[in-house]
Amino acid sequence: MKPDNALEVPVCFWCFKISVEVGQVGRPLVPVIKGYNPCPECSEIMHAGVSFIEVDPDPMFESQEPIEHGGAKVYPTSNWWVLNDSQTEEVKKVLNLHSETQERKYLIATKVAEGLGFPKS
Ligand SMILES: [Zn+2]
Repeated sequence: MKPDNALEVPVCFWCFKISVEVGQVGRPLVPVIKGYNPCPECSEIMHAGVSFIEVDPDPMFESQEPIEHGGAKVYPTSNWWVLNDSQTEEVKKVLNLHSETQERKYLIATKVAEGLGFPKS
């Protein structure tokens, strides 16, 4: 139950940290995840390399927004990894990926991430 005077504060989907300065508000805070915009910290990490984002056909929580991927709706699990270019080349060889995405970002299924031995956070 959410208290009436609660203040919703946006939380970064990728690290679950509150992504704004809240300060002393004297009200209960309710963290809410809205969309997939990374916080500045996550954004910096993601831009340092190529992001591999784990996705699942089922949402992780109620009202999670889907992402369109190859005509299907998928949901990020919040597990993600950033690889440098040479690591990415290795992974692309293993997965038989040829195209470089414009955004330097790949969506991968849980099984694929496990197969690659990506560590879970
Ligand atoms: Zn973040």
